[in-house]
Amino acid sequence: RRSNGSQGIVPSRQSATNLVRERHEFTRLQLIDDEQNFSEELPNYMQNKWGLEDSGFNYDVVAVFGSQSTGKSTLLNRLFGTRFDVMNEGQRQQTTRGIWADRGTDSMPVLILDVEGTDGRERGENQDFERKSALFSLAISEVLIVNMWETMVGLYNGANMGLLKTVMEVNLQLFGGNRNSKTLLYFVIRDHVSSTPLSSLADTLSIDLQRIWDGLSRPDGLANAQLSDYFDVRFTSLSHKTLQPENFERQALDLRRQFTDKKSDDYVFQPAYKRRVPADGFPRYAQAVWEKVVSNKDLDLPTQQELLAQYRCDEIAATAIGPFREAVESLRPRVQRGQIVDELGDVSRKARTQAIGAFDEQAARYHSEVYQKKRAAFVQTLDSELHAMFLNQVKNALTLAAETFSSQGFRALEEGADEGRGFNETVGAVRVHMEEQFIATVRALAVPGVSWSFESEIEQLEAQLEAIMEKLRKAEMERVLERLRRDARDAVAESVAEHLGNPDDGMWAGVMAGFDAACVQADSQLINRMDAAGVEPQARSALVRKLHQLLWDDAADVLREEVADQMVLLKLRTALEDRFRYDAAGLPRVWRPTDDIDAQFATARSAAQALLPKFSKVDISGSIKLRRPADFFPAGYDFARTLVLISPARAREVGKRFGREADALYLEAKRAMVTTQNQ
Ligand code: GDP
Ligand code: MG
Repeated sequence: RRSNGSQGIVPSRQSATNLVRERHEFTRLQLIDDEQNFSEELPNYMQNKWGLEDSGFNYDVVAVFGSQSTGKSTLLNRLFGTRFDVMNEGQRQQTTRGIWADRGTDSMPVLILDVEGTDGRERGENQDFERKSALFSLAISEVLIVNMWETMVGLYNGANMGLLKTVMEVNLQLFGGNRNSKTLLYFVIRDHVSSTPLSSLADTLSIDLQRIWDGLSRPDGLANAQLSDYFDVRFTSLSHKTLQPENFERQALDLRRQFTDKKSDDYVFQPAYKRRVPADGFPRYAQAVWEKVVSNKDLDLPTQQELLAQYRCDEIAATAIGPFREAVESLRPRVQRGQIVDELGDVSRKARTQAIGAFDEQAARYHSEVYQKKRAAFVQTLDSELHAMFLNQVKNALTLAAETFSSQGFRALEEGADEGRGFNETVGAVRVHMEEQFIATVRALAVPGVSWSFESEIEQLEAQLEAIMEKLRKAEMERVLERLRRDARDAVAESVAEHLGNPDDGMWAGVMAGFDAACVQADSQLINRMDAAGVEPQARSALVRKLHQLLWDDAADVLREEVADQMVLLKLRTALEDRFRYDAAGLPRVWRPTDDIDAQFATARSAAQALLPKFSKVDISGSIKLRRPADFFPAGYDFARTLVLISPARAREVGKRFGREADALYLEAKRAMVTTQNQ
C-alpha cells in the first residue's frame, strides 16, 4: 500500500480486478429478481450502460453455475472486470436469488450472467428455480462455467451432479432436434489444494457426466445421440484464493486470457456456440425466452427466433421508413397542387435505396426466411407509397400536356396558317413535343427493378391528344372552308353578272360553267388541305359536301341579288329598249309614219317579258356538278328551294310594273313620232 500526497489519490493496489476495470462502475443489472420478474431495464442497459446494442453478432454470452458461495461472483469479477456482489467472509448464507447481468470490460463485448441460488440441496422451490435458470441460461449463453470445490468432485450424488443432470435434460429439451448449436461446459475447480492432478479430476467429472447422460430418458429419435453432439467440455482448476493468492491470481489471469484472446488456440468463444441472436434483438429475445420458461410453456427456440425476427424486422422497418417518408412527404404538397416536381424521381429513388439499406443492415441478421418476407413487405410498402405519388405526378403531367397542346395547338394553327405552313408541320410538331415531354416525366420516375409502365396513362394521353387534335382539325377545316368560299365567291359573282347581263340562250349554261369551274378549283384545294391535316377518309365526304353547299349558297345569293326587283326591271327594260329603240344593226330607230310602230313594240315587249320566267328559276341542266344534287350536297339541304329566284307572285308584280314602264316607253315613242311629223 503506497500513498503519494503530491499526486492525490493513487490506486492503492494493482490486482487483476483493477487491471481489467477500465471504464464502467456498477453497471450490473438484476435481470431476473427473486420474484422471477424479468427486468424492464435490459434494453436501456444494452444501449446506454453496456453499449452492446449495435454490436450485431459481435458479442458473446457466458453464464456461471454452481453451488452457493463457491466463489462464482469472485471469479467472474476477476475474469471480466464485473462488479457482482461477493458475499462477506464468514457470512455463509445466500444473499439474493435471481440472475444478475453485466458486461465485460471495454475490450470484452461479453454479457455475463451470474446465476445465483443454483443449489439443488435446498427445498423444492429452489430446484424449480434451478431448472428455470438453467433453461434460460442455456437458451441464451454460449458458454456455461460450472464452478465447484475440488472436494465436490466425485460426489456423484452431490448437489453439482443434480445441477448437471438438470442442465442435460434442459439441453435436450431445447436443442434435442438441433445438433448444430453446441454449448461449452467449462468446469472450474476451486481450491485445488490436493496433489490429485487436474487430469484425474477431469476424468472423474467426465465419467460422472457420461453416467448422467446415459441415465437420461431421451426421446425416441435421440436414442443414439452423444453427449459430445451437444457439449464441448473443458476443465481447469484454481489454487486456493487465500492460501495461494499469487497462484490464484496468475491462474485467473490465464483463464481471462482464454476469454479475450481471439487468436489463441484455446479461445473460448467458438462460432459453433453462437446463439445467432443479434444484439439489438437480445433484450426482446431474452425476455420472451424467460416468459416461456416462467409460465412452464414449451420453449421452442427456433419458434422464438422466428418470433424475434418478426418482431425486430417490424421494428427495424418502422424506423427505416421514417426518413423515407420525411423525404417523400416534403414533396407531396407540391405534387398534390398539380406541379410537376422534377426532383421527385431522384429524391424518391434515393430515399428508397437508403430505407432498404437501413433495413437490410439490421434485419439481415435475423431468421433468413422471416427477413426475406419482411423485406419484401417493406419494399412493397415503400413502393406503394411511391406509386401513389408517382401516379399523381403522371396524372398532373397528363393534364399539363393536354392543356398545353390545346392552347399551343391553336396558336400554332394560326401562326402556321399565316406562314403558309401545313397542319402537320405546325400542330403535329407541338403534339410530338408534348408526347416527348410526358414520356420524359414518366421515365424520370422509373425505379430500377420495379416495373411501373403507366401504360394506361400513356393511352389516356394519346386519347386526349387525339381528341384535341380532332378539335384543331375541325377548326382548321372551318377556316379552310371559309377561305375557299371567299375565293370562289368573287369568281362566281363575276360570271353571274356577265351572263345574266347578257340573257341569251346560253345564259344559264354560262352561269353553270362558271360555277362548275369554281367548284373544281375549290374541291382540289380542299383535298390538299384535308390531306395535310390528316382528315379521316370517312370525314372527308361531309367536308366536301359542306363546301359545295357553301359555294352554292353563295352562288344563289349572288343570283338573287342579280334578279332583285330593280335589277330585273332594269334588265327587262334594257331588253325592251334594245329591241324597240335600236334596229338589228344596233342603230337608234327613227320612226316614220309608214312604220308599224305598234307591231314593233308588241314584239319587243313580249321578247323582254319572256325573259322574266327565265330569270325566275335557275336552269342547272348545263352543270356537270349539279347533275346529282343528292350526291353533291349534305343530307337535308333544300337545294330545290334555292333554285327559285323569283316567286310567281313577285313575277306577276314585276310583270305589271314592267308593263307600266313599257307603256310609258311606248307613249314616249309615239309622242316623239308626232313631234317629228309636225316639224
Ligand atoms: P458465490 O456465492 O458463489 O458468488 O461466492 P462469492 O464470490 O460471493 O464468494 C463467497 C465467499 O467465498 C466470499 O467470502 C469469498 O471471499 C470467498 N471466496 C471467493 N473465492 C474463493 C476461493 O477461490 N476460495 C475460497 N476458499 N474462498 C473464496
Ligand atoms: Mg455470487
